[in-house]
Amino acid sequence: MTTAELNAITDRIRSSRTITLEQLSALLDTADTDAVEYLHAQAREVAQSIYGTAVFMRGLVEVTNYCRNNCNYCGIRRDNAHADRYRLDDDTILDCCRTGYEHGMRTFVLQGGEDGQFGDARLVALVARIRAEFPDCAITLSFGERSRDSYQRLFDTGANRYLLRHETADARHYAYLHPSEMSWEHRMECLRQLREIGYQVGAGFMVGSPGQTHATLLQDLRFVAEFRPEMCGIGPFIAAQHTPFADQPDGSVEQTLRLLSLLRLLHPHVLLPATTALGTLHPRGRELGILAGANVIMPNLSPTDYRPKYSIYDGKICLGDDVSHCRHCLEMRIHSVGYQLVVDRGDFR
Ligand code: SAM
Repeated sequence: MTTAELNAITDRIRSSRTITLEQLSALLDTADTDAVEYLHAQAREVAQSIYGTAVFMRGLVEVTNYCRNNCNYCGIRRDNAHADRYRLDDDTILDCCRTGYEHGMRTFVLQGGEDGQFGDARLVALVARIRAEFPDCAITLSFGERSRDSYQRLFDTGANRYLLRHETADARHYAYLHPSEMSWEHRMECLRQLREIGYQVGAGFMVGSPGQTHATLLQDLRFVAEFRPEMCGIGPFIAAQHTPFADQPDGSVEQTLRLLSLLRLLHPHVLLPATTALGTLHPRGRELGILAGANVIMPNLSPTDYRPKYSIYDGKICLGDDVSHCRHCLEMRIHSVGYQLVVDRGDFR
């Protein structure tokens, strides 16, 4: 593919909502490294035209690794008897937020498995405490599928955003990744409900998950282009021991970077994290993610004693470093590619 042809395709993507499968296919599959470099440069330019060279921080607190679900890819799935289960208490979670605030974070992401101990009463009380103590911060929740009433109560208490990766926009692929008691239709329904309630919604998927094909990836891109989530978390699939997919190959860093750029072009304002999974598979994965159009980074605020237990995949990085070390390390990394970490909620614009 020539640069002129690629330019024509990216211009069409940027100016039009009617994207053909052929246009997208060319960008996902081209072996032309110049074309891929050009794709990343276009994505950077689009991101900078909206967000400048700012990179937003989201302080991540992994509050529980108990989960009632049995996703075939996930290291904290219910049937993994090797997972060393834990729950953080509310005071510890608040302390994590305080540490994050001291280090310039203005968004806290509380994430966990679908743990019955984090029912509505407990989560509402927790969100209320965080909202009262940090009125200038965004509160993001990521606790999987809940009832509409639960999402509404949490929103009314002060939560602003909800991360629920759609995992795949292809129902058959979803059924391959998940046990039969989980349903793609319900996942999608939850995303619609979150949107209706007023959350800034984060969708997303793993790159290179078992069973993923070129066709399912195109469906993911179409879904993002149409649903237009405010955030989209994508990172490579990384095999987790003691799961049904333990022997499957990891996803590719290169393909993840292409997809980040495509998402940036398809949905220019989207908030795109350069994920820890990307940093796990490549020593400069997060920097490369920023250079491919990402603009969010998620430092881990969980107490270091617990971080190794939230092992959703093998080899996860940043397990032992305290928050001040992480912040400094990320600052250096982001600077090295010409961007800055900013003290900002980092709302969708
Ligand atoms: N329970 C919540 C949910 O379902 O959204 C949040 C926790 S879940 C562990 C967060 C995300 O981790 C999932 O949406 C999935 O995409 C990602 N994940 C799980 N296992 C993974 C793996 N082996 N490799 C890469 N990402 C993984």
